[in-house]
Amino acid sequence: MSDKTKPIVVIGAGITGCVVAYKLASAGKKVILIEKGNEVGGLARTFRYGDFIFDIGPHRFYIGNKEIFSFICEILKEDYRIIQRNTSVFFLGKYHAWPLNPWILFNLPISILFKSFYELLFVLPGKRRKKIKHFKDYIMKYYGPTLYNIFFRNYTQKFLNLSPEETHANWAKEAIKRTIIDERMASRNLWEILRMTFLFFPLRTEFLYPTGGIDLLCHRLAERAKESGAEIYVDSRIEKLNLSSRKIEGLIFDHKAVEPDKLIWTGNLQNLCELSNVPINGLNYLDLILYNVVVKRPINKDFQWCYYGSEDLVFSRVTLPSRFSQDLVSKGRDSLCVEVTCNESDLWWKDPESLIGRIKEDLIKVGLIETSADIDNVYIEKISNAYPIYTRDYPQHLCQVKESLSKFENLSLAGRTGLFWYNNMDDSIENGLNLAEDIILEAS
Ligand SMILES: Cc1cc2nc3c(=O)[nH]c(=O)nc-3n(C[C@H](O)[C@H](O)[C@H](O)COP(=O)(O)OP(=O)(O)OC[C@H]3O[C@@H](n4cnc5c(N)ncnc54)[C@H](O)[C@@H]3O)c2cc1C
Repeated sequence: MSDKTKPIVVIGAGITGCVVAYKLASAGKKVILIEKGNEVGGLARTFRYGDFIFDIGPHRFYIGNKEIFSFICEILKEDYRIIQRNTSVFFLGKYHAWPLNPWILFNLPISILFKSFYELLFVLPGKRRKKIKHFKDYIMKYYGPTLYNIFFRNYTQKFLNLSPEETHANWAKEAIKRTIIDERMASRNLWEILRMTFLFFPLRTEFLYPTGGIDLLCHRLAERAKESGAEIYVDSRIEKLNLSSRKIEGLIFDHKAVEPDKLIWTGNLQNLCELSNVPINGLNYLDLILYNVVVKRPINKDFQWCYYGSEDLVFSRVTLPSRFSQDLVSKGRDSLCVEVTCNESDLWWKDPESLIGRIKEDLIKVGLIETSADIDNVYIEKISNAYPIYTRDYPQHLCQVKESLSKFENLSLAGRTGLFWYNNMDDSIENGLNLAEDIILEAS
């Protein structure tokens, strides 16, 4: 039974937590939103250094879902712009369009082109019924060994620091879905790329980008939740959960004790399990270091971001914020957001400055800057829990944890980090809206 005198406590003020808090508070519910970081936004937050503005890598809203699009517009009002997608992938020393399009095949060395077509016609049909055990099987089945070897293998190994045979096939499905996004740009396998060769017409994918940084959505949601009476705490730690066999009876944060009617957890699962004495194994998150680079002159590339798979480059993706909006850089200058994935236990995480020299060299190698004198400043940001790591046996581990936590009947897991879900912001918005609606309906 729900107790309306007690608050609904939401842990984590990323997109999911902010959407839930806003919706519940607007419906007259008592809400407490608790965030461990020093501001709201989670993975959709923004860093500002003078005139230069950086999100966490590339961040923009896909607007394919009408309901989510109108929700975002309702919150942002007029404060956004629509941009056309323009993304790239760098391999074999060249830039190619991403999602892969037919022209990429003709841009490849002739031997690779022949091998890819041979595989398409004679090797891939034979693999149709092959059971997929891991990431490598998935890519080999849909793209063939040549594309696997020249791009997918190295990129995945470098990005996750996990071999493709140790990586679950869901990583391939989700990563391709996340990076392609628009279903009409079908290039989920070599056949689809070939089909586009003959049906080729320019497809455009549009995105929405908030004025002045991606964090505008969470800031607006938090403001509105507050106006409706929600209490929001940042820089706060959950010190303790008081548990009975069936419920989370209480929690202590910042020396305050609260008895929640419901607890919605969008934070790190390991943290929740530790607080609730539930064993957790095999569910780890990948962390990310951002090198936010201020460049003295405009950069001579027009993509918004590019994926870099080669083992000899330290970064996996570079974003040009000015291609989202010129307001993110100062006039006549430019910037680059360079992403290096790692784990908190790695040397790079402990000493990220040690990589700056290598990053400068690699930016020159890929033609983004000419010399290191082009760089004015490098700001480093560490992002914990950026991606759930989908190892081969993560589904069993996740199932076990969810089952153990399900004994707490007033606890709901939500969002990317809370559900160990490789998702996008529109998924988190949808998840938050649905969860809030269920709670409102249950009480009515
Ligand atoms: C590099 C990168 C680029 C991306 N680009 C895009 C893009 O272009 N488009 C797109 O749609 N999506 C993109 N995404 C995905 C998007 O960022 C996420 O889907 C979305 O931000 C997830 O929001 P969330 O609230 O579900 O989770 P999170 O943002 O992870 O929020 C969880 C919150 O909980 C807090 N927290 C954790 N533990 C605790 C605790 N114990 N106590 C209190 N608080 C806690 C965290 O600090 C965080 O604020 C990208 C992600 C990354 C990493």
